Amino acid sequence: MAEFNPYAAPEAEVIQGRATGIDEGRGVWVDGTILVMAKAAHLPHRCIKCDAPATSWVARRFMWHPIGYYLFAMLGLIPYLIIALIVRDTMKLAIPLCESHRKARAKAFGINWIVGLVGLAICFAPAIGPDLGFLIAVGVSMIFGSLIFAAIKASILVPKRIDKTHAWFKQAGPDFLASLPSLPAPAVEL
Ligand SMILES: [Zn+2]
Repeated sequence: MAEFNPYAAPEAEVIQGRATGIDEGRGVWVDGTILVMAKAAHLPHRCIKCDAPATSWVARRFMWHPIGYYLFAMLGLIPYLIIALIVRDTMKLAIPLCESHRKARAKAFGINWIVGLVGLAICFAPAIGPDLGFLIAVGVSMIFGSLIFAAIKASILVPKRIDKTHAWFKQAGPDFLASLPSLPAPAVEL
């Protein structure tokens, strides 16, 4: 991916799409399938998944560091966490959703909770009969499955990179991305 020049002039004048507020959508671009935005920018009031008018916002705090720092996990969890806290970049973002995507998300999380709780209940099955011990593996799998689902789905967007001024996100919907202006070409040094 081309390096983005954070010192380039603001592109607010060329923002396309259906932005209504003065700041809405300013500093937000598309680069292929990646949503690129200035950290200070606000997303337009349209669903991040389908581009319909947004009715709710999900507040998220994203953290990112270069992938190589995961190697420090080999030294142990505590050294890795200390290093990750030092080198990470973070970003707070209010993610817009339409009513149908908000409902679908609430329904998915409701089902996910039930799967996790049923998994927990199944773990106690051996208390009913000693030959039901094999069900513990089923219950634990359901609990871990629901935790992984929640970890992946909770954030809606997945950070590809975050630096001091900008953030790059995966998983925005194609219709939403299509409404955004293209990322300005980086300045060419002569
Ligand atoms: Zn939607």
